[in-house]
Amino acid sequence: MLPDPFIADTFGRRFPYLRLSLTDKCNFRCSYCLPNGYKKDGQDSELDQTEIIRLVRAFSRLGVWKIRLTGGEPTIRPDFLDIVRKIASLDNIQKLAFTTNGYKLSERAQDYFDAGLRAINISIDSLKSEQFRTITGQDRFSEVLDGMNACLDAGFKTVKINTVLLKGLNDEELDDFIRFVEDKPVSLRFIELMRTRDNLDYFQNHHLSGALVSQRLLSLGWAAKPREVGAGPAVEFEHEKSTGKIGLIAPYSKDFCSTCNRLRVSAKGALHLCLFGEGGYSLRHLLQHDDQQQELQDQIISLMNFKKSAHFLHQGNSGATPHLASIGG
Ligand code: SAM
Ligand code: SF4
Repeated sequence: MLPDPFIADTFGRRFPYLRLSLTDKCNFRCSYCLPNGYKKDGQDSELDQTEIIRLVRAFSRLGVWKIRLTGGEPTIRPDFLDIVRKIASLDNIQKLAFTTNGYKLSERAQDYFDAGLRAINISIDSLKSEQFRTITGQDRFSEVLDGMNACLDAGFKTVKINTVLLKGLNDEELDDFIRFVEDKPVSLRFIELMRTRDNLDYFQNHHLSGALVSQRLLSLGWAAKPREVGAGPAVEFEHEKSTGKIGLIAPYSKDFCSTCNRLRVSAKGALHLCLFGEGGYSLRHLLQHDDQQQELQDQIISLMNFKKSAHFLHQGNSGATPHLASIGG
């Protein structure tokens, strides 16, 4: 049985799940995220391995049992595998996952699995090479697809595909994506494009409501699965004729925030209580010595009082997050 986390907010939500960004840097240029590529911000460096382990240990002692490594592109950190091995060996961490753009995945999948990663989310925004290149700035569609297959061969039981829905760019591929999972043991999750501080024009041109996806799925005979206890905000659909599943992450839908079960820490050690908040609370000063562990845990617990009931995206307020690569999407 999974432990009940001690971290809760004032609305009674509990947080078993931490998304930890390992770096802001990225080697792709997704048009909705870093259209001009990664630009150095000149501020603090990324957390080092010792700081990361102190941080994750504190969260795990507070009952967090699932960690997702993200970024930027987490796998471009030269010490990525060392970090994975160290986190995997900590007590209480039951699920170690990561999100990747799939760079060099086919040659690295086995190393990732052997280091202790057990769940992978791979971003694939088009099933057409040319369109994939247009959206990501990288001509790597077949490499990423090979990477997905290599993950299944390597032993990953949880392979998810993240697909951001984009009006005029990949919306015509909706049925292709649905067919894509028919014979594969993967879950493809459509993510509604989120507005961030830097992508207002793009958002206005390309945002597509997740409701269109659920309507299409229902019309094709897919059924929404009942939400499991402790599940996050994705709604999962299944079809008797499809091996793969489809998920929908629709942050603009009603009640999206009521099932929030995750916290985020940026690559520089700031706790973000919401993806769309006004900024983070730095924990870095409490990551400098092993004897600060209790103080760090107390600080995390007390910061939970500031977590709000919901984001304010509907009022057009996307918070201070410039793009999702900055705090780990
Ligand atoms: N670089 C890795 C990747 O792309 O998978 C991990 C970081 S990326 C920020 C995590 C996820 O956020 C990706 O699936 C990406 O497509 C998604 N994402 C980034 N910006 C987004 C936005 N504005 N709206 C919705 N999803 C977004
Ligand atoms: Fe990089 Fe991921 Fe952002 Fe694409 S979505 S630019 S791969 S961080």
